[in-house]
Amino acid sequence: MGQLDGQIALITGAARGIGQAIALELAARGADIAVCDVQVEWLEETLAKVRAAGRRAEGYATDVSDAAQVEAAVDRVKSDFGRIDILVNNAGITRDTFISRMSEEDWDKVLDINLKGTFLFSKAVGKIMMRQKGGSMVNIASIIGLIGNAGQCNYAASKAGVIALTKSVAKELASRNVRANAVAPGFIRTKMTEQLPEKIRDQMLAQIPSGRFGEPEDVARVVAFLAGPDAGYVNGQVLSICGGMVTA
Ligand code: NAP
Repeated sequence: MGQLDGQIALITGAARGIGQAIALELAARGADIAVCDVQVEWLEETLAKVRAAGRRAEGYATDVSDAAQVEAAVDRVKSDFGRIDILVNNAGITRDTFISRMSEEDWDKVLDINLKGTFLFSKAVGKIMMRQKGGSMVNIASIIGLIGNAGQCNYAASKAGVIALTKSVAKELASRNVRANAVAPGFIRTKMTEQLPEKIRDQMLAQIPSGRFGEPEDVARVVAFLAGPDAGYVNGQVLSICGGMVTA
């Protein structure tokens, strides 16, 4: 018996990286999986892996920053699966540069996907979870949202916003038995971090007390814990997954 048997989980940005690892971890614990990404074809690999693990998986083309697309996707997931027990707001991007060079477009794009996308999904799925009188949201923030980073003011602001949104949603929905928590990953090996210059990666490695970069599965296991019944009395919290880089 899996800990999440019979549960329905919706994960955004699940074509690869951390989102795909979360889909596989939740499926391994017994959940059926709905995944969203910009194009449905990109989700084929994730869908095939979840189905190979014996769970139901459906993909939905959704730009998380578009309110109409988010509402349509959530409606379809509800009608296809009947309920939504777990929401993981994972879709996120970076557009890094120093503030003096950052365009308004780079600011808007990052805030729209990382923060507004989390708001839109939390709003649409939150209504369903409130009616169900149960559900669990896990938002993927970042340690950069806690400590800031030169060259990432848009990303840092978006992730700090995700943390504040999580705490507020947790307080609003707690009486309906809906929880909201966030994780703050450090440096995790995915396509997002592969794009960084080697020099920056070496500098980051030197700052990680554990002496290694994280893997998407390191994040996925913590997300599964927060999503599931073992964390039933954990609400409005932010858990860093960073090999000891940030300890407060
Ligand atoms: P990734 O490999 O780039 O995956 C992100 C996924 O989100 C991609 O499939 C991406 O699709 C999708 N996405 C982007 N924009 C979207 C949109 N508008 N609508 C729907 N989906 C969209 O990144 P990752 O490293 O796995 O990151 C996942 C999450 O973890 C992000 O929120 C990120 O900020 C956070 N995080 C990552 C790290 C790290 O070290 N990797 C650290 C802290 C936090 P595309 O192909 O369109 O890009």
